[in-house]
Amino acid sequence: RLYNEVQELKGNIRVYCRIRPFLPGQNSRQTTIEYIGENGELVVANPFKQGKDTHRLFKFNKVFDQAATQEEVFLDTRPLIRSILDGYNVCIFAYGQTGSGKTYTMSGPSITSKEDWGVNYRALNDLFLLTQSRQNTVMYEVGVQMVEIYNEQVRDILSDGGIWNTALPNGLAVPDASMHCVRSTEDVLELMNIGLMNRTVGATALNERSSRSHCVLSVHVRGVDVETDSILRGSLHLVDLAGSERVDRSEATGERLKEAQHINKSLSALGDVIFALAHKNPHVPYRNSKLTQVLQSSLGGQAKTLMFVQVNPDGDSYAETVSTLKFAERVS
Ligand code: ADP
Ligand code: MG
Repeated sequence: RLYNEVQELKGNIRVYCRIRPFLPGQNSRQTTIEYIGENGELVVANPFKQGKDTHRLFKFNKVFDQAATQEEVFLDTRPLIRSILDGYNVCIFAYGQTGSGKTYTMSGPSITSKEDWGVNYRALNDLFLLTQSRQNTVMYEVGVQMVEIYNEQVRDILSDGGIWNTALPNGLAVPDASMHCVRSTEDVLELMNIGLMNRTVGATALNERSSRSHCVLSVHVRGVDVETDSILRGSLHLVDLAGSERVDRSEATGERLKEAQHINKSLSALGDVIFALAHKNPHVPYRNSKLTQVLQSSLGGQAKTLMFVQVNPDGDSYAETVSTLKFAERVS
């Protein structure tokens, strides 16, 4: 009850924390995770330090532990996805340091079987199933856009997507990015592969680039009521953010430093926007970064926001983990 009221107060912003498991071959088995509560409590501690003030308590809407499956994570996300067909705008972010599982949560591991599907494939799959089940009452059209934001520049990574453009664009579409009509999950898989391939063009090393740019997959739904002809629009933005790790200013130079500055700027701009929305501040500072500009019409108002805060449990990541969790706590 109270929980729902708090949700109301905070304008539909929710934060889920997800701890990824240790990976095979990961050296340190010293974990920072001390305790995970039933109601979203998380206690982290520095395994290399003893004494007082070594534990920190955080509270989120929910914490998924190392054993949580992709399906379990999606089950808690599903209601949000369904609300899109009722005309809501939904933004889902994955935030965390490089290697913490952002891409895993959003898309899945690199070679993805159906069980490993991340939120984005499951969401689209669910949308198609729902639109089919309602096809006698509402005719739906689904369009997809995919852009990468790197050094404060937006790049359409589906411009050669092949599938035709549609008349779907609306106030919520990402300006100047091609819109592709999709009819099935297979269409989406195909497009996303094209996007991911385009993403690496010009990059020196695949992982490097993907960890320093934001990837935004936008799904636009338009439904026409067969009887009344009334039109309903909803949208879903799925955002795999750039790695949040702080770059040592003394070590980074040139391109690397520039990238780091752009990432810092855009992530803190995102934090400021969500903070302002959560606290119902009259001024929401959308203009401070490309990322928040692109998402402006989908953040705030009637929109629903979900942030996955990703954590690498490794003891060596303690400092990054605390800074990630503090960021998330501020916006939740
Ligand atoms: P990021 O996108 O944050 O840099 P990744 O999603 O690429 O991180 O995850 C880093 C590695 O950890 C990958 O090999 C990924 O498959 C693995 N991984 C992440 N989360 C999980 C999980 N929940 N279960 C199993 N493996 C995971
Ligand atoms: Mg990634």
